[in-house]
Amino acid sequence: HRFVDRCDVQTLARAAESGEQEPEVPEHIDFDDYVAGGGYTVLRECLNGQRAPDDVVQALSDSKLRGLGGAGFPTGMKWGIVRKQTYPRYVAINADEGEPGTFKDRWVMERDPHRFLEGVLIGCWATDASACYIYLRDEYPQCYEIMERAIERAVAEGLNGTCAVYLRRGAGAYICGEESAMLESIEGKRGLPRHKPPFAAEVGLWGKPTLTNNVETMYWVRDILEQGADWYAGHGRHGRQGLRLFSVSGRVKDPGVKLAPIGITVRELVEEYCGGMQDGQQLKAYLPGGASGGILPESMADIPLDKGTLEEYGCFLGSGAIVVLSDRDDVKAAALNLMRFFEDESCGQCTPCRCGTEKSRKLMERGEWSRDKLGDLSTVMHDASICGLGQAAPNPVDCVFKFFPEDVR
Ligand code: SF4
Repeated sequence: HRFVDRCDVQTLARAAESGEQEPEVPEHIDFDDYVAGGGYTVLRECLNGQRAPDDVVQALSDSKLRGLGGAGFPTGMKWGIVRKQTYPRYVAINADEGEPGTFKDRWVMERDPHRFLEGVLIGCWATDASACYIYLRDEYPQCYEIMERAIERAVAEGLNGTCAVYLRRGAGAYICGEESAMLESIEGKRGLPRHKPPFAAEVGLWGKPTLTNNVETMYWVRDILEQGADWYAGHGRHGRQGLRLFSVSGRVKDPGVKLAPIGITVRELVEEYCGGMQDGQQLKAYLPGGASGGILPESMADIPLDKGTLEEYGCFLGSGAIVVLSDRDDVKAAALNLMRFFEDESCGQCTPCRCGTEKSRKLMERGEWSRDKLGDLSTVMHDASICGLGQAAPNPVDCVFKFFPEDVR
């Protein structure tokens, strides 16, 4: 299902002007290879009645799998809530990966698209959904090609059951990664976040119950059902449970997507998975969750990377985008850059975020930071913004005051 709109016209026009070639589609595990490796066995068992939806939901709950797109809601619980709602029900998959420093969903779709798609189709079956929308970031044209082919093949094989599957393109707005803005966008409207509650599980697409999940969350579903909830929950470090993909960037020798246990510390991630810091550089700080997660100092590089631990410090792990800063970096400059980003990406719907990001950015550009004024703006944005963008926008500046006092003295 190609969704031809203004965006297509603009993208094509830009490509024609610049003489861009069609991007090459990366090598990936295609349908036949995936099936040869046991792929779609779990889904076929579901469709054939060898597995019951309640058992599948229970297994996901037992595995402790949480949403890996940002909010971290328990996956089994979410599936269970949607199953209790009235018909029709929908599924909306968030593949609009726009958090700065996050690139794991692209990695998944460009390498193993059917493992992700199998999870999606199991979700459609478990919730008895009549339609599924995969909302894909427009800046990922290779993923579009791959997913379009993958969906066509899976549908041709009858693996979608009675659920229609649509691939929808975003149009470059960061805010459309926010769940309710994504739903608005899928409905063909401007991507403005909705007031919550009600939540999408009860009132989602076109006012109907909707299961919303991120790409990586669905990527784990097959393996959890195949290998058991204990297999997934048995991973983890420092008392935490599970596995996830971390997008690591910044001043490390070997950045990229790292499959690592939940609860690993940044120091361990850098040393064991990224070859250490770049030569001659010392770890100074890190962003645990892209633009929204805050900034933490080197002295906190030994805390477990998991949702609960980071929230104790007012930070977020979110989608697992770890940006590593060194002694060559300026945390104030990083925080200012992030505030500019939020100001650009604010949808403008509510005053605390629209005006708060602009005023904060202007105050920060003065060089001398006023703790009182920036603190007041931060409180208002945290408390009164409609959605997570405005609520999280002051996190970096708050962290600089809290954890880097020598930088703002
Ligand atoms: Fe829009 Fe910002 Fe308000 Fe969210 S917090 S609704 S992005 S203006």
